[in-house]
Amino acid sequence: MGAQYTGRFAPSPTGPLHAGSLVAALASWLDARAHQGRWLVRIEDVDTPRCVPGVDTVILQQLAACGLLPDEPPLYQSQRSTHYQTALDQLVAAHLAYPCACTRQDIERALAGRGQARPRHGELVYPGTCRNGLQGRAPRAWRLLTGNSEQNMPLALISRAPIAPDLIANNITHWTDRRLGPQQQNVEEAVGDFVLKRADGLWAYQLAVVVDDAAQGITDVVRGEDLADNTARQILLQGALGLPLPRYMHTPLVLGANGEKLSKQNGATALDTSQPLQALEQAGQVLRLPAGLPARTPADWLQQAVPLWAGRLKLAGD
Ligand code: GLU
Repeated sequence: MGAQYTGRFAPSPTGPLHAGSLVAALASWLDARAHQGRWLVRIEDVDTPRCVPGVDTVILQQLAACGLLPDEPPLYQSQRSTHYQTALDQLVAAHLAYPCACTRQDIERALAGRGQARPRHGELVYPGTCRNGLQGRAPRAWRLLTGNSEQNMPLALISRAPIAPDLIANNITHWTDRRLGPQQQNVEEAVGDFVLKRADGLWAYQLAVVVDDAAQGITDVVRGEDLADNTARQILLQGALGLPLPRYMHTPLVLGANGEKLSKQNGATALDTSQPLQALEQAGQVLRLPAGLPARTPADWLQQAVPLWAGRLKLAGD
């Protein structure tokens, strides 16, 4: 892949980096360097109510303290609304996105009527109520049309997707994760028509990430395993928008003392970058890099880690 490679780390500025987020940042940096590629940082500040002012600067400082310096100034999603709107317009024009008037209560009611009100990761599978129009109700959000399984037809977008025809067969999206191996999901069944623009007017993560990965020429997405479940949705969107598909690798998660994934939400403590070598060493162990690299500075540690990562890729035939 050589100089063609562009990777990225895309933190949401909802809190400082913790030990788990450093693992994803380090893996994406190492993978980019092992491919002689570029490495970018994108601040994903679309969900403004969850963003903490000033935390973007803290994150960039934490990365810099660990020697992880982006090759370009970071991109801020809060500046990119017009691009997301253009993408939504394109989907609407292609009849692949539609307005939705449903409240959470409406969705719960519709699902209960079908005896299937089970939330999935706290989210309800959208039953497609507004696919056939708003029935006089006011539009709230915009959703992607994920399939047409009632007629047992593959997704309407397949024909225009610049992706291998076997990637979406019988409405099932297939992809191969560089670490987790072959994956598949029927997005329509597992998630339903998902939100592109929220009822509060904010852009949804799925749309923003896909538009920006393409705009930044990202060839390889390397991120935490907790995000793997989003990949099929993102592949559908890339297909619908005619965007190139990056490769994906999802990295191991760091578990807290309670055995749960370390996350800002469950109160993970901020990464202590006063000891950057120790932080890198710990993140490296999660990525199964050898312990005790004889390094004096973060830059030195990283320089030693790159050939180890590259060697492993070679072994894996990557
Ligand atoms: N902004 C997302 C997060 O911090 C990551 C998005 C991505 O890497 O695709 O969880």
